[in-house]
Amino acid sequence: MTDATPTLMPKPWISGIAPYVPGKSAGADGRPLIKLSANENPLGTGDKARAAFAAVQAAPDALSRYPDPGSVALRAAIAAKYGLDPDRVICGNGSDELLHLAAGAYAGAGDEILYVRYGFAVYEIAARRVGAVPVEADDRDFATDVDALLAAVTDKTRVVYLANPNNPTGTLATRDEVARIHAGLPRDALFVIDQAYAEYLTPDQDDGGLDLARTQPNVFVTRTFSKIHGLAAERIGWGYASSDVIAALHRIRLPFNVTRAGQAAAVAALGDDDFVNRSREHNARWRAWLAQELESLGNHGVRVIPSATNFLLVLFEGQVSAETVYHRLMDAGYIVRWLPGQGIPQALRMTIGTEDETRGLAAAIRAALAG
Ligand SMILES: *Cc1c(COP(=O)(O)O)cnc(C)c1O
Repeated sequence: MTDATPTLMPKPWISGIAPYVPGKSAGADGRPLIKLSANENPLGTGDKARAAFAAVQAAPDALSRYPDPGSVALRAAIAAKYGLDPDRVICGNGSDELLHLAAGAYAGAGDEILYVRYGFAVYEIAARRVGAVPVEADDRDFATDVDALLAAVTDKTRVVYLANPNNPTGTLATRDEVARIHAGLPRDALFVIDQAYAEYLTPDQDDGGLDLARTQPNVFVTRTFSKIHGLAAERIGWGYASSDVIAALHRIRLPFNVTRAGQAAAVAALGDDDFVNRSREHNARWRAWLAQELESLGNHGVRVIPSATNFLLVLFEGQVSAETVYHRLMDAGYIVRWLPGQGIPQALRMTIGTEDETRGLAAAIRAALAG
């Protein structure tokens, strides 16, 4: 055969994608580890959501019938809870799907998609997938630098992603900063405010994203049921934007993108303030405890980035590297997230677990640094 033989090749921008690396739950030998690598809720799922999920699963046609393609009841429940227009709520197969839809609807080859360095790993994949150029703005000691972000805007910028609070850094941009970003963006760029951890915030920390999305034509706020609501397995996210943006996203979303049991569980989760409040309080308490424990290890070069989320980003800048601590923690039975692929090889991201897990993790880190 000659060179003329056609070869099956992915598009070059697809070949350029480094696949998303999920948080691990087992060691290299398959041994199960205490999983503090994926920011899941250590308290599990609320009883109301579990009951609603089980009720759907018990129905005779639970598996044979398609789910509601419009997630009508779930959108109504979300709208009622947050004072939104249900027609402008869109549900997704996790907020991950919605983040991809934003890029798919508003950017393509030759366009730029902008986010801060150390932003959520999905943004780069979403940009490359549609052939757009991912652009990273400089951070300010791991936090969003509004001036640097706005300085990176060009006439090709079509989508700007901001995770707020951010993953993997845990940092929060203030309401004023978010407003300043929006004010500085051109009207033909979509500002995506990814609020996956919003439910962990106190009311005074609200970044104003939903208020912007209520009134501005180019703001899309995304939320998820995966984190505080403890429904990560069912893949349920939602977003809010102007009718025009929502209509564009509906054109390209998967028709049956949220499962039936997931929709029911999510509706019930919205009615379980007790579980959400307990989860937030547990997290605040043990996040503060763990941060204080680790800050006392400053003589080992340990530094904790202030977090508004259910995890801490911890820098290891002393004799014992983050990589060494990561492996020693695995030997001790804990899996956290080491982030060389995201350009932070000196850091570990650790989810706030149960009390026992958090105390055990702190002791294991101490031991790892000692020897
Ligand atoms: C976890 C996470 C998501 C994705 O959540 P799903 O709804 O499970 O897809 C989105 N953005 C950020 C910043 C996250 O940390």
